[in-house]
Amino acid sequence: AKRIVLASRPVGEPKPSDFRLEDYAVPTPGEGQLLLRTIWLSLDPYMRGRMDDGPSYSAPVPIGGVMEGGTVCEVMASNNPGFAKGDIVLAHAGWQQYALSDGKGLRKIDPGVAPISTAVGVLGMPGMTAYTGLLEIGKPKPGETVVVAAASGAVGSAVGQIAKIKGARAVGIAGGKEKCDYVKNELGFDECLDHRDPDLAAKLKEACPKGIDVYFENVGGKVFEAVFPRLNDFARIPVCGLIADYSTIFGKDTPAPKWANSIMRAILVKRLNFRGFIVRDFASMYPDFIREMPQWLREGKLKHREFVTEGIESAPNAFMGLLKGANFGKQLVRVAPD
Ligand code: NDP
Repeated sequence: AKRIVLASRPVGEPKPSDFRLEDYAVPTPGEGQLLLRTIWLSLDPYMRGRMDDGPSYSAPVPIGGVMEGGTVCEVMASNNPGFAKGDIVLAHAGWQQYALSDGKGLRKIDPGVAPISTAVGVLGMPGMTAYTGLLEIGKPKPGETVVVAAASGAVGSAVGQIAKIKGARAVGIAGGKEKCDYVKNELGFDECLDHRDPDLAAKLKEACPKGIDVYFENVGGKVFEAVFPRLNDFARIPVCGLIADYSTIFGKDTPAPKWANSIMRAILVKRLNFRGFIVRDFASMYPDFIREMPQWLREGKLKHREFVTEGIESAPNAFMGLLKGANFGKQLVRVAPD
């Protein structure tokens, strides 16, 4: 079988030599264990953080260790009474074709509800991130303006559509005309702007004539700089991700934060509510999420798009692409046919 391990810790942007493709023997399940075969591997921006060994909310992948990742797997053999051969499960088997599990943390997936790949997408971690961060921190009210970047991606696409369901105005920001057209015309956002447009700040002002009440922060960097002056009094800012900076070497690539004082001043004067969150903080909202999101999907109020590459060997390139916007929708690797 094949797997991808972390060969070295990236300095700045990850490069192909930071990953290594390895052969290994398909393991045999022991007592209480099951053998999983991965069908879908999810690639997510947080994996960039796992490649570093700096302080974070999760432990890094060790050098030589299998790259971490959420997966949809088929149970191939089971010595565990909770699971049978043929079950489809949500697992965290990483960037490899086969893995053993003791059953802990696995969740059975009902293939009758939705395509099984959605368990790592719109009905999984990214969808839950959008749902909880927007509703619990953003709290959009009818008529308010919600702005989100990486708007064609797994999280951002759901944020804008849920904002619309709640009666707010949704303004997306995405990379390039094709993604912006999709966000506006297919997903039904009110507006979508290109973050590479040199006039982004002026266009954002035009697109948000009543200012910004909720900024769902996925990106940081230049997008944040354009958004920040437009925030209204009492704006809510769920701080979900800062993908523009994930490969930045602080102190080397960035000057001292000249902005810090004006940000603090605005937080005080405008009574802004910035709140960072990790999706697992809101695990108690899962029952609401799994009741409402599939319903919105069925009603056609929530659309999603997948961006699939084939074979475990494709994972490193696909992941490096994800960090730069090469993906158009939820990035998945089809590791085996479903
Ligand atoms: P996406 O599917 O949105 O893919 C990442 C996208 O980020 C790219 O397609 C690209 O889109 C955009 N991007 C990359 N660099 C830049 C840049 N410099 N400026 C603007 N946009 C950029 O990924 P996800 O939906 O999975 O994740 C979105 C964000 O949510 C990430 O920051 C991620 O870390 C965060 N997240 C946080 C979680 C939490 O628990 N807090 C959980 C899950 C995700 P484009 O072409 O439009 O530029």
